[in-house]
Amino acid sequence: MIVILKQGITPQEKDKVRSFLSEKGFIVKEIVGQQDTVLGAVGKVSLDPRTVELMPGVSSVVPISKPYKLASREMKKEDTIVQVGNVKIGGNRVAVIAGPCAVENYDQIMSIAESVREAGAVMLRGGAFKPRTSPYAFQGLGEEGLKLLRKAGDAFDMPITSEVVSPSDVKMMAEYVDMFQIGARNMQNFELLKEVGKTGMPVLLKRGLAATIEEWLMAAEYLMASGTDQVVLCERGIRTFEKATRNTLDCSAIPVVQKLTHLPVIGDPSHATGIRDMVAPMSLAIVASGASGVIVEVHNCPEKAFSDGPQSLFPSQFKKLVHDIQALCPVVGKSLEKIPRVLPESMKTQEEEKKGATDFSAVTVAFQGVRGAFSELAARRSFDESVSFLPCHSFADAFDAVSSGKAKYGVLPVENTLGGTVYDTLDLLAMHPELTVVGEQQVRVMHNLIVVPGTKMEDIKKVYSHPQGIQQCRAFLDKELPNAERIPFFDTAGAVEYIAGLGDKSVAAIAGSPAAYYYGMEILRQGIETDASNYTRFYILAREENAEVYRSQSKADKAALSFSVSDEPGALMDVLKTIAEKGVNMTKLESRPIPGKPWEYLFFVELQLPEDMSKFDELAEEIMKKAVSFRILGTYTSVIG
Ligand code: PEP
Ligand code: MN
Repeated sequence: MIVILKQGITPQEKDKVRSFLSEKGFIVKEIVGQQDTVLGAVGKVSLDPRTVELMPGVSSVVPISKPYKLASREMKKEDTIVQVGNVKIGGNRVAVIAGPCAVENYDQIMSIAESVREAGAVMLRGGAFKPRTSPYAFQGLGEEGLKLLRKAGDAFDMPITSEVVSPSDVKMMAEYVDMFQIGARNMQNFELLKEVGKTGMPVLLKRGLAATIEEWLMAAEYLMASGTDQVVLCERGIRTFEKATRNTLDCSAIPVVQKLTHLPVIGDPSHATGIRDMVAPMSLAIVASGASGVIVEVHNCPEKAFSDGPQSLFPSQFKKLVHDIQALCPVVGKSLEKIPRVLPESMKTQEEEKKGATDFSAVTVAFQGVRGAFSELAARRSFDESVSFLPCHSFADAFDAVSSGKAKYGVLPVENTLGGTVYDTLDLLAMHPELTVVGEQQVRVMHNLIVVPGTKMEDIKKVYSHPQGIQQCRAFLDKELPNAERIPFFDTAGAVEYIAGLGDKSVAAIAGSPAAYYYGMEILRQGIETDASNYTRFYILAREENAEVYRSQSKADKAALSFSVSDEPGALMDVLKTIAEKGVNMTKLESRPIPGKPWEYLFFVELQLPEDMSKFDELAEEIMKKAVSFRILGTYTSVIG
């Protein structure tokens, strides 16, 4: 049962309820949600809920209808975010776990770890105990394999996961792994589940070959009832009559499971298909289905792999896959999980040393707009939940906030796929040489018709939004609300705040869904933009002294530059030619007037950083010689798409 506590419950009252339930034989867990704090009580005992309902501090008692209790959404509305080392799985993230089927030797695991980390994996997998169909097949290196996996994880700064097959190995394995893996064949090995659950450590629970979703969730319940609440579910294909693939990937299980449980679910395209060529498309299908990540087998030399070679990706294929997943993320409203790189010692302040270099708590992030703006969404995706936000009235205010140190970072739009470049950001960047671009974030702009709760289409007489919002939803407005007056507003989320203040059913606003949530409004129509490929790209800005902490999260592969050239024939051409001659790919070129210098221009360029950074340094040096002014605006990790 779920015991919902009153907001004003005293600690003593809470203790009383808790001890009462424990004494009756229940396992009691406290869950602090956004709205309510509840005590979840599960156990074999039966108890008249009214005896609990009458206790001081208790608001109500709700029975859980499902056979799985601790794992159910009824118990906890918010998504559980499982933390494995520095990596988070769940919520709005897509985590990519990769590695070989089995650890084979030192060189193999080191080489694979290096390449998957470089490509963007956040966790390393590798079997040391392999439950093989044949007793004559390679069974894994055992503890020796775990030692090697640990070494590789530490060397490349990734938490590790490996399969546990026997309850007697649990204690030993806990010394090495950051997350246990329960294999498909052991999903209902209840003694194993209990032993692993007792450690309280994170567990990756594969779906059994012939398990129903309910059986799978009951297995999760075993783990949770034994002591861990850190469970990640993994859909890895089920047995069907189909023989074309090794198993049948049940993508539809992903949204089903997400409805039923608060636990994160990821997918394993490798064991689901058993065929290398199917791994990338099925990975994308898993992410498109709403999963919190994928676990993929990668091998440096698949043709010689001791196990599962035919389904293992080559490192280059894996790299391409991570890029594709990253491009898909904004479509499903997620961002790719990254893990911090180790900061050079000299870059760490004492405070950071204490907290861990990329702990962003107590960090303030400035953005332009009111709460619920797309910029805030971009800011949320760029940092974890611990940061606080500073909404700024204008772009200039947001730049000033970062410049003055009021905010450590700023998130400002630089380009929209339909509206083009956001000139304000480039112009202000030119005026703030003390700021640098440290990152890039991409957000899908999905517009909604937002109204006062209870409003119907026929009530609406006026629609407020930013002119771009109105423009981008013109086809919808022409068709569905041809007679409604369209009123431009300074900001999309601001328009929602405004109509919320009016509380009038004759007005509506067009904005993103976070704005509706913030201001307690209702979404009457979702996704009303004419063109669904509507994305905005944001720069993450910082003062130089805070740049490295953000940059350290991933390897930069893009640079932004600005320069001006003398007013003579071929001057611009000369700089662009240098870029071309170095074989560097230019991805954007923009020119802006220089204030106070009529008809003179500042050029903005974005480029893909070459693998060999010395080439970029040479390029920068040459441009500096040819240009009148030159500045590296920043280097950062690209968000493709
Ligand atoms: C594995 O991940 O290596 C594995 C054996 O997976 P499954 O248990 O899903 O077959
Ligand atoms: Mn395998």
